[in-house]
Amino acid sequence: MKNFTYYRPTTLEAAVALLDSRWGTSELLAGGTDLLDLQKEYVAQPDKVVSLNFVNDPIFTRIDVPQILPGTKAQVSIGAGVKLAEIAEHAELKKLFPALTDAAATIGGPQIRNMGTLGGNLCQRNRCWYFRDEFVQCLLKGGRKCYATDGENRYHAIFTRGHPCVIVNPSTLAPALIALGASAETVGPTGKRTLELSKFFQAPSKPDQREHVLVPNEIVVRVLIPVEGLRNASYEVRHKHSWDWPLVQAAVAFRLSGGKATDVRIILGHVAPTPHIATEAQKLVEGQTITPELAAKAGEAATAGAAPLSQNGYKVQLVKVAVKRALLLASGAQPDWLL
Ligand SMILES: Cc1cc2nc3c(=O)[nH]c(=O)nc-3n(C[C@H](O)[C@H](O)[C@H](O)COP(=O)(O)OP(=O)(O)OC[C@H]3O[C@@H](n4cnc5c(N)ncnc54)[C@H](O)[C@@H]3O)c2cc1C
Ligand code: SF4
Repeated sequence: MKNFTYYRPTTLEAAVALLDSRWGTSELLAGGTDLLDLQKEYVAQPDKVVSLNFVNDPIFTRIDVPQILPGTKAQVSIGAGVKLAEIAEHAELKKLFPALTDAAATIGGPQIRNMGTLGGNLCQRNRCWYFRDEFVQCLLKGGRKCYATDGENRYHAIFTRGHPCVIVNPSTLAPALIALGASAETVGPTGKRTLELSKFFQAPSKPDQREHVLVPNEIVVRVLIPVEGLRNASYEVRHKHSWDWPLVQAAVAFRLSGGKATDVRIILGHVAPTPHIATEAQKLVEGQTITPELAAKAGEAATAGAAPLSQNGYKVQLVKVAVKRALLLASGAQPDWLL
């Protein structure tokens, strides 16, 4: 690991002031479960590491679930410094947002969940093995080609939309939060801003781009989730019961009134450089009663536009399964795959 100077600011404003305005020379350290790996692999070589672990601001460190009164608009606030384990185990969040708590509960193992934070999860770097290899200079490291496109690409994107870098966005929380209509509040050199999470991610293709749209000296302060009474669920297909990332994930949310689903959101994870909105599937389910037959049709529709690479065609079938099961789970149906 390259030597660096370590800073321990106690306010977010002080942390912002310590960060550089270009990527690479300074990094934020939250739980360190991603950053330290990248540093040990010489993929990240910052001169300054700015820890967020001494920031003493309850908005950044706590979960706040307001009293929810009928007819009022309420928002849940989750500080970016909150650990994944706290999200996974929070009783009120489990009732309101099972899509989020189930997604948090499956991330890594207990050690990762007890160190990793919400902010770090949203801002973590991609897991492409070429990117993570110190000796490979691909597009994201200033090289001239993507090695995954014609190489080992079984865990890469199936919805690439012609994008030159075929990573999948690594965050399992992101699809659930987007389905729930969440937004991120940030603080940076020009002050605070609020970004819908559906606009938070981007598909990077060069070294001065990250998997999100934040500027280098901008910090996620918290995530806000509106309480809208939506049915919601997240379903992941994984390699047996492992600590690894999901192969495919579907997060869904919808309003259920008179037996019909409205305001339907179906977001796919781990299949595209950004969380993927399954527009065709959403249209198909809108205004309908969710039955196993409709959920299966929605799974088919969710694959519209898929263009698998040489080794990841299997993900198309997994999308169908994940969408079908997420919809059935959210509708309250007895999951027949558990019988
Ligand atoms: C074995 C293993 C399995 C895993 N499985 C999964 C999985 O299934 N799903 C999944 O989603 N993740 C998975 N992860 C990744 C894990 O969730 C992330 O490593 C973790 O969430 C990162 O959080 P952190 O606080 O440790 O971030 P750090 O490592 O401290 O930081 C990660 C990045 O985020 C930036 N950052 C951190 N906080 C902020 C902030 N508040 N504002 C702006 N930038 C910030 C840092 O600068 C850094 O670039 C896995 C990791 C491991 C090691
Ligand atoms: S998918 Fe992206 S990160 Fe991986 S080799 Fe291609 S350009 Fe690099």
